[in-house]
Amino acid sequence: MSCKICGIEGPTKDVTFYQNIGMLVTRQWAKVEGELCRPCIGRYFRSYTLTTLFLGWWGVISFLVTPFILINNVFQYLRANQLAEPGIGAMNVPNVSDPPFVGSGSFKFKVIYGMVIGLVGLGLLAYYNVGFMEKHAPAINARLHGGEITDEADGEYVGSKIWNDIRSLEAEYKSKGWNEFRPELLSREPYLTELKLQNDRLQRRMTTERSQNLGANDVCEQLALDEMSPALDAYTKALSNLFVFTKSTTEITKENSAEFDALSSKESDSLDQLNQFITDNKKHGCDK
Ligand SMILES: [Zn+2]
Repeated sequence: MSCKICGIEGPTKDVTFYQNIGMLVTRQWAKVEGELCRPCIGRYFRSYTLTTLFLGWWGVISFLVTPFILINNVFQYLRANQLAEPGIGAMNVPNVSDPPFVGSGSFKFKVIYGMVIGLVGLGLLAYYNVGFMEKHAPAINARLHGGEITDEADGEYVGSKIWNDIRSLEAEYKSKGWNEFRPELLSREPYLTELKLQNDRLQRRMTTERSQNLGANDVCEQLALDEMSPALDAYTKALSNLFVFTKSTTEITKENSAEFDALSSKESDSLDQLNQFITDNKKHGCDK
């Protein structure tokens, strides 16, 4: 019998191969069926199966049909396993030469679409692995989560930034006396700038959550609203005031030492509030 694809005279087998390309709401599919020779079976099997394996899954219906297509193609290919190669005589048929590409959908489209899927996949991976990205690509992380807080990944990013800023601001001071302490504190200003930025974003998010009453059915959300948000705001304000005072004060005198003490105690009060939040958060299992 002659091969339906290349027209070669020789042993053929009746096979059916499918290809699926999932494109979210739509899909592209193709089918080849009929009496095919061994080389054509191999070409269609490889092209249709590899295309489906990589591009088949991306859609609801596509996700469901892709496993069946893959199983069918492998099954059809194995069925034709015993098929002999076309004889030497058949090689004289003019159109035996390998087509550069078989199957449906242009090769260029498959490569470009495959790259798009790969990039989207990498993007999603980066978006949801906040900790990993912060360690290895902080600049990309800042771009991904730099806007308003709209989901958990954004929240996780802001949270990690805030705790890091507080840790850095509260790290132990080595200096003794105002003259040494002053530059040491002021050298930490970048953390305060960053903290103000993240606190602003967080407070805006909290306002939205309050207006939508999101805390009503969620104890962890309620804790964030009632304890964390005011404590963080108080801490940020206390630190800002402390920096303003420190910048303008070159010397501690009898007159301004009371002001400094008051500022320091505001700072430690707000830190106590934050620690209280951390304790309550743990108690309710919200830290997991
Ligand atoms: Zn053929």
